Amino acid sequence: MADDCIFCKIIAGDIPCNKIGENDDFLCFLDIKPITDGHALIVPKKHFKDVMEFPKELDEGYFAFCQEMAKKIVGTVKADGFNLGMNNGRAAGQIIFHQHTHLIPRFDDDKLESWPHKEITLEELGELQERILKS
Ligand code: AMP
Ligand code: ZN
Repeated sequence: MADDCIFCKIIAGDIPCNKIGENDDFLCFLDIKPITDGHALIVPKKHFKDVMEFPKELDEGYFAFCQEMAKKIVGTVKADGFNLGMNNGRAAGQIIFHQHTHLIPRFDDDKLESWPHKEITLEELGELQERILKS
């Protein structure tokens, strides 16, 4: 538990949340500023700053829990799809530094725009590929 972490406080029961699921390792609760109805956060009960600290042994259980929660939430709000997303680092929009995954129900008519795509040449793509492969 990290002393100054709001999600650790939620997990410890010191701060209330709208819990919708949990098991020994993970907790799922509704986001207080939802993007759509049913927007939920899935968090490991142990404190990890971001996905780079997330331990391999929790991987399988995490995805199984995400699938379980997706089924319940999508079924309840009758969503047409959902996004599973994780912000890692301030530049990516992370504001709570306790690793979490957003589960955002999507609806055919929700009119939410995806991120804009940038133009890139095949040459630039190839150069990027080389740089990443060599790193
Ligand atoms: P991120 O930008 O990925 O760090 O997202 C953090 C998310 O946590 C935001 O969508 C907030 O609305 C949400 N959030 C912050 N505090 C609480 C809270 N006490 N209960 C539920 N959701 C929260
Ligand atoms: Zn924490």
